[in-house]
Amino acid sequence: MRIDVITIFPEYLSALDVSLIGKARAQGLLDIRIHDLREHTTDRHKTVDDTPYGGGAGMVMKPEPWALALEAAVADSAEVELIIPSPAGAVFNQQMAYELAEKEHIAFACGRYEGIDERVYEWAAEHPRIRVRPVSLGDYVLNGGEVAVLAMVEAIGRLVPGVIGNPESLIEESHSNGLLEYPVYTKPANWRGKDVPEILLSGNHAKIASWRTSQQLRRTAQRRPDLLAAVDPETLDAQGQAE
Ligand code: SAM
Repeated sequence: MRIDVITIFPEYLSALDVSLIGKARAQGLLDIRIHDLREHTTDRHKTVDDTPYGGGAGMVMKPEPWALALEAAVADSAEVELIIPSPAGAVFNQQMAYELAEKEHIAFACGRYEGIDERVYEWAAEHPRIRVRPVSLGDYVLNGGEVAVLAMVEAIGRLVPGVIGNPESLIEESHSNGLLEYPVYTKPANWRGKDVPEILLSGNHAKIASWRTSQQLRRTAQRRPDLLAAVDPETLDAQGQAE
């Protein structure tokens, strides 16, 4: 999978050299290319921002450097999914991560200041090879898109086959079936007076599976009741039978 990230702070993305994503890059599973937006400016000062029309605080990112940078990033691809991180976008979730992990080429445009000139969204939507969507990390405001891109690239990248050593670990995770994950424990069985739930030491796989499903439901009801309404009961039945 190819991922292009355009930013005015390329060094911010150096975290993508580390850990599993860094390893996947080294192995060629993820072809991540970081680009400096300022390389696509034409003035001496490499200006990427200007004052907002209509007045108001802050600066807005100029459209032309973005068009040039995006044209370069998509030049040799038939179709590119362009994600523009924005607090005004649809909120990123696991479903989106699954969907994007299927794409051959995605690109991210990291905004700064008050954001990118709106016409870049319109221009990208009209581009024959770009499918654009504004995506938010959550209902709060960051200083720039880079942190959102780090989170999204990690969530998407780990779903690409081969990136996680044991693909089974992706199956029972939080949000894979719409629920939060059950609690997990490791040795020792008694730690500072706290015992691991007895059922997990029983060796009875059917009972452990049903305990885990009930724990998922309980935890989701306690912490994220909003998720429960969207869960398909048949998924849970199928999960119980498979385990
Ligand atoms: N003026 C914008 C607004 O109110 O919607 C906020 C601009 S913010 C200070 C600068 C940049 O940070 C945005 O263009 C976007 O790239 C990024 N950003 C901020 N919050 C974000 C969020 N919740 N999710 C994704 N990106 C975010």
